[in-house]
Amino acid sequence: MVKNGLVTTTAMERERLDIGIAGGQIVRLEPDIEAGGAPAVDAGGKDVFPGFVDPHTHMELPVSGTVSSDDFYTGTLAAACGGITTIVDFAGAVRGQSLLEALSIWKERAAPKAVIDYGFHMIVPELDEAQIAEIPGLVQQGVTSVKSMMAYKRGPQGSGDGSLLRMIMAASECGALAMVHAENGDAIDVTVDRLLAEGKTEPRWHPRSRPAILEAEAVNRAATLAAMVDWPLYIVHLSSAAALEAVMTARDRGWTVLAETCPQYLTLTEQEYERDGFEAAKFVCSPPLRNEEDRRALWSGIESGRLQLVASDHCPFFYEPQKQAGRENFSRIPNGIPTIQAMFSLLFSQGVRSGRISCRRFVELSSTNAARIFGMYPGKGEIAVGSDADVVVYDPEREVRLTRRPAEPTLLREHVDYTPYEGMTVTGWPDTVISRGEVLVQEGEPVETPPAGRGRFVPRRSGTWELPAG
Ligand SMILES: [Zn+2]
Repeated sequence: MVKNGLVTTTAMERERLDIGIAGGQIVRLEPDIEAGGAPAVDAGGKDVFPGFVDPHTHMELPVSGTVSSDDFYTGTLAAACGGITTIVDFAGAVRGQSLLEALSIWKERAAPKAVIDYGFHMIVPELDEAQIAEIPGLVQQGVTSVKSMMAYKRGPQGSGDGSLLRMIMAASECGALAMVHAENGDAIDVTVDRLLAEGKTEPRWHPRSRPAILEAEAVNRAATLAAMVDWPLYIVHLSSAAALEAVMTARDRGWTVLAETCPQYLTLTEQEYERDGFEAAKFVCSPPLRNEEDRRALWSGIESGRLQLVASDHCPFFYEPQKQAGRENFSRIPNGIPTIQAMFSLLFSQGVRSGRISCRRFVELSSTNAARIFGMYPGKGEIAVGSDADVVVYDPEREVRLTRRPAEPTLLREHVDYTPYEGMTVTGWPDTVISRGEVLVQEGEPVETPPAGRGRFVPRRSGTWELPAG
């Protein structure tokens, strides 16, 4: 039971209600529930939100000869300390590999380690007939979203327009959501080659190799293919004003195109790539950080409801030694940054505290919309009788300095040696985090070492994909 909290959901803002919990679920939601014998968490007048949902993570992801540094234990524990009670990670198949086999590999990785609940999307490569025939089998196993990579065409997972169209067709036949990493891979490959040939090998050339127009073009192309099939499309990690414009143009045509953005694009800009030496490598992710105008456009998309949710795209690599792989060639820097633990505090601090969005809108962006779109609602993403007792008691006043400098105290515990938000202070931090009725985190720290493998696989249904009115 959680007592004395101010509960916010998409239906109510800061209502003083107690939450009765039994068997891992919410069984009562009323003012002043008698505590009885049940141990109570006293929220002490702080905010109470549905457990956050991060629908875009890459735990222990193999990438060009290395692997992302958070595994399903360290990554989900850091997530829990950030108030997240459910993630949807990307399982991925390579060219010629069975999709169902890839899924079972990811399930074997996650099951013994995950601390919080988890689902999977499936990244599909350039598809062959056998793989296309497996897509309904993914849906039967609760993997109801499939992603094509329009970039990374030279890698084992990039795919062309034909494969993308066939993916959308197959998704439409079995009720799966079609997702894309929208960047024009062919144009990026040519640009990378040209920059390297000119001796431009430092990390600051990374953003110049993949400008925003190549993201906007890919959004438009993918949306056009989805419209041909008359099926919804979901854009992951949308990063630029131009790409958001392409989304809005598609919607004006009556096409259903949903989009997420990430905390890094709302917080940081391409200025980070101007740092001296190799330090810019800490910010190498794809799409790259954009300019101040883009950052503002994304915030306006968050405020207006044009962007559906905020996801982390958490994909950490140690600066020493992992990022060093690209010392002589920026295209060899493993792409990705650590961002999962502070993501929703960044959103709360810059969104709610600065008056840009309401608490209700914060709950939509951090929990409810992801649960709806990805077919987990109302088990996840809600505080209501019958929902899983995934609850965050959130201190809206706590100031936390984000740092990974050695010898400085920090709450950040992602398994990596830096944070891209070094030195920033956020206002608002999770206090108590409850997953299916179990307290995992108190005062922002794990209560004890939470058992690896307590997290459960969440089989997902088809989601709800309607766009906001207007
Ligand atoms: Zn990603």
